[in-house]
Amino acid sequence: MNTVTSDAISDLDVSRYRADFPILDRTAASGAKLAFLDNAASTQRPNSVVDAMSDCYRRYYANVHRGIHTLSEESTHAYEQSRKSVAKFIAAPSDRQVIFAGGATAAINTVARTWGDANLGPDDVILLTIAEHHANIVPWHQLAARTGCRVEFLPIDDQFTIADDVVVEALDRLKPKLFAFTAASNTLGTVFPVKRWTALAHDHGATVLVDAAQAAPHAVVDVQDWDIDFLAFSGHKVCGPTGIGVLYGKEPILDAMPPFMGGGGMIHKVTTGGFSCAELPEKFEAGTPPIVEAIGLAAAVEYLADIGLDRIAAHEHRLCQHADDGLRQIDGVDVVGPTPDHKGGIVSFHVDGVHAHDVSQQLDTRGIAVRAGHHCTMPLHHHLKLSATTRASFYFYNTVEEADRLIEAVREVRQKFA
Ligand code: PLP
Repeated sequence: MNTVTSDAISDLDVSRYRADFPILDRTAASGAKLAFLDNAASTQRPNSVVDAMSDCYRRYYANVHRGIHTLSEESTHAYEQSRKSVAKFIAAPSDRQVIFAGGATAAINTVARTWGDANLGPDDVILLTIAEHHANIVPWHQLAARTGCRVEFLPIDDQFTIADDVVVEALDRLKPKLFAFTAASNTLGTVFPVKRWTALAHDHGATVLVDAAQAAPHAVVDVQDWDIDFLAFSGHKVCGPTGIGVLYGKEPILDAMPPFMGGGGMIHKVTTGGFSCAELPEKFEAGTPPIVEAIGLAAAVEYLADIGLDRIAAHEHRLCQHADDGLRQIDGVDVVGPTPDHKGGIVSFHVDGVHAHDVSQQLDTRGIAVRAGHHCTMPLHHHLKLSATTRASFYFYNTVEEADRLIEAVREVRQKFA
């Protein structure tokens, strides 16, 4: 099983970072102090991100690339600098390989529509895990409907993970053209061994796409060390804005891929008879791009890098351990996910006899924001024979006191409804 280790000591001065997030000081509708534990759905933004975006709007905003005037040149410079910051954040060899997309969903759909349509046909196999978010399932089902290829799933075991020999057996038997998997499950928290699985997949001739929507906020992403072919993540889960995400790809693969959306910005030349494409990365950025969002995303990843992803991971591990231990001790509460040594800062659970929505609503009356439902992982919930779970997800600005409030509130809910 993959073990989540961090050499960094959990020494974050949380109060220092909380000061950058005024929203964390507010109360919930009940009047109770907010404990924001819904970070896997979307994180909050520090002042530096809000300031970078408003500074652009206030001082130098204009459309990028096409204008030969001061504001457009300044906006273009800031937009392209943002691409460089993101390239550094994921250790991409070149910023040409960083494509700004609407989010992780848009990035994965781009791969399915372009690389998928061009490379998969009847009887080809796409291998996924059963723990995937719908964003890494539905585009492949759609591709299967278009091309006749097949989608297969790796099951999780009773430790809520997948052993390497199960992966190898599936790669041997199914010979997939694509292995697309999440680096960390948004429901279970399970962290999967990206580097090891990528090496195994490449040994079997498969292309690898990693959904890093739940990894990029919490751990160092190194696309070169991992040797992955594609990576996708979302801005709003790394303290950045909504409406932007990243698709990374190996350069020869992106070069060979046809464009997805057509329009302005992605062309070299257009005639009445046809068009030729721009170079990377513009080839995949048709239309006016998310300019201010890219600037906000760069401010976000720089903020995270300044804190240190290993320190973030260590702090979350401590909170997760604390919450996980406390919840497992409550009679009638089942934690749905591996032990903290094998997961990121997510603790999903099920309270006997109480629907997840009721748990969530009860916690909200105590100011605690969590998420309830299937978390866009219906096949996983079906596999686990659960219709819904309650999910608490921690970030670096959360405190042990908030984890304690969660444990106490769940205990009360269990007693109230038992
Ligand atoms: N993949 C995972 C693992 C996720 O958790 C999410 C969002 O929750 C997504 C993909 C989709 O991200 P977005 O909705 O930002 O495109």
